[in-house]
Amino acid sequence: MATFDSLPSQQQELIKKHLDLVIEANKTMNLTRIDTVEEGMLLHVEDSLVGLDELNQAPDGLYGDLGTGAGYPGIPLAIASGRETTLIDARLKKTLVLDHFIEELGLVGQVSTFAGRAELLAKTRSKRYVALTARALSKLSVLMELASPLLKKGGILICYKAQVDDEEISNAKRIEELVGMTINSDRTLKLSDNETTRRIITFKKINEPKTKLPRQEGMAQKKPL
Ligand code: SAH
Repeated sequence: MATFDSLPSQQQELIKKHLDLVIEANKTMNLTRIDTVEEGMLLHVEDSLVGLDELNQAPDGLYGDLGTGAGYPGIPLAIASGRETTLIDARLKKTLVLDHFIEELGLVGQVSTFAGRAELLAKTRSKRYVALTARALSKLSVLMELASPLLKKGGILICYKAQVDDEEISNAKRIEELVGMTINSDRTLKLSDNETTRRIITFKKINEPKTKLPRQEGMAQKKPL
């Protein structure tokens, strides 16, 4: 399994520098509730990298992080995978800070931001992505709806989850055909504190959706399919 310690030291340093920038920016704006390096190394860095194996299994091409916030898991995964990356967030305030991070980290050219909802991006970059991630954004069925119009056939949605109840899983299964995606992998693990449980569920786009996507902005979250 890919971990922080197994990355080349140059990548480790960049990922640490990103965390330092996040903690510094967090002093003047509300980016994340995590405000120490120790906690950040576990709950941001280590956690983000949990999905690297899944990302590496996606076909070659463009990767996007939906609802990226301070750049998690998008920035560590961009650094560790070397993929061309879009960090997507509905809040301009967040993408402006991310633009500053990208410059400080020397990632201009590889990593860029999109200020707007995933539904809006789907209008201009329909079926352009081979991999998408989402952490702490929404329920599985909502993530599937947001991801489907952005993904190429064969593309993967990687969902970072904590607890998932049966209803969330059954709702995801119920809309598989409608959104043209099917569950592809599912694993549960503990982070190195031996306490934090993480579940990584991936979906593969196998068909075009049977309903028109994206719906109007906000609908996916307000009135789930
Ligand atoms: N992924 C980060 C941040 C989670 S908070 C982390 O795990 O730390 C969720 C973020 O998603 C917020 O920054 C919010 O602005 C953004 N967001 C919510 N709905 C969105 C949508 N439809 N499209 C893009 N971004 C969205």
